[in-house]
Amino acid sequence: MKFINLTRRTEIGANSYYLEIGRHRLLLDCGMHPKNTGEEALPNFKLTAGREIEAILISHAHQDHIGTLPLAMRRFPGARVFMTEATAEVGSVLLHNSVNVMTRQREEIGPPVAGLYPLFTHRETDRASERWRWCPLRQRISISGERAPQPQRISGLTFEFFDAGHVLGSAGVLLRAEGQTVFYTGDVNFDDQTIMEAAIFPQEKIDVLIVECTRGDHAKPADWTRAGEERRLAEALAAAFERGSCVLIPVFALGKTQEVLAMFYKFRRERRLPEFPIYIGGLSSKFTDIYDRRAHMTRRQLPRLQLMREVAPFILNDETIRDAPLRGGRAYVLSSGMMIPRTLSNVFARRLIENQQHSIFFVGYANPKSPAGLLRDTGTEGEVALDPDKPAQRIRCNIEQFQFSAHSTREALVDYATKLAPRKIVLVHGDPPAVEWMRATLTAELPDSEVIVPTPGVELEL
Ligand SMILES: [Zn+2]
Repeated sequence: MKFINLTRRTEIGANSYYLEIGRHRLLLDCGMHPKNTGEEALPNFKLTAGREIEAILISHAHQDHIGTLPLAMRRFPGARVFMTEATAEVGSVLLHNSVNVMTRQREEIGPPVAGLYPLFTHRETDRASERWRWCPLRQRISISGERAPQPQRISGLTFEFFDAGHVLGSAGVLLRAEGQTVFYTGDVNFDDQTIMEAAIFPQEKIDVLIVECTRGDHAKPADWTRAGEERRLAEALAAAFERGSCVLIPVFALGKTQEVLAMFYKFRRERRLPEFPIYIGGLSSKFTDIYDRRAHMTRRQLPRLQLMREVAPFILNDETIRDAPLRGGRAYVLSSGMMIPRTLSNVFARRLIENQQHSIFFVGYANPKSPAGLLRDTGTEGEVALDPDKPAQRIRCNIEQFQFSAHSTREALVDYATKLAPRKIVLVHGDPPAVEWMRATLTAELPDSEVIVPTPGVELEL
């Protein structure tokens, strides 16, 4: 069994992994780096030169897992592409949005990279998505595409998707071939969120576990509970509105937006907060529509909740964000979560950070080097340039942090790995301190397992 980490650095970037099991060659995920442009935004597909890829398996539709799928399909025209139906629906919206973003970037980044942009077109995205195969959870499927009534009789490599509890459609992938099993977690959450229910992952014998490490550098606070954190957010919003504050909550368009809207719905229903206007972006509203449409066919909490109808957010776009009123008592739940320059959350934050009346609440992961990470870590009274093309600003607004991560705690990841006690554990999808903590902890907990941090670009024999 061979493995190559195609991500360019040990980080959460353009996540993609090459896996060879016997004569089968696959890719797990094809992400795009959310911050970089050009070659630096892509997985290092060149490392697969001369190898025919038979299948591409996509764990979920976040940009850093699906963002370069049309490019990978161009490079490997014979590959079959598998994902859940919800991931396909969300993924197609995300990739079309990405074409628009890249078309805009073309003017900003300049030559020579600009000449390559957009890296794929709307038409190519449509053609690609017609070739995706939708797979249900918990069904053993042959990599050749057949679904067998008697799965144990399928020969060769099979895969099976397991609910990962991260965002709508997210799945872990269990691969079985020649008596060997490999499980790739994708992004996972072992705890319930407000909408998503906790992952249901395999408990059987696993030989190789490929596991995400996003929160490896954060200990779970002893007294943390989701209900307690929801209460803290409701109180903070009430206090901010009392002060006449308008509150910006930077979020990922997929997942965190819908979780925050569901919390707002609960706050109103439980009369913890009065009615207040809520604003989201256009892309977020498209994903929220999909959450609503699929509510009754998804394993989730609040299955009857229709967010667009019952929470009724107002929708902003690139133009209206510039003069949306900074009026107290309003909540702006805007992407991107990392406040990448020119996104709604970045544009809006630059309008409000110098005003001490207003507030920014962080609710999830942000890369420390991203504008959101810089702002969060600098804090009130510091200075920050949220857009490198614009002057730095003094931070006077109120900044608060809440923990509603869509990723597993490191403690739950270690518990899961310890229960499975696989022969090898491959640590991916984490910044270096996160991966390092996981390596040290798992090595101590599981002396008989080999714990591997895969150096980007180096072929490993598993
Ligand atoms: Zn994700």
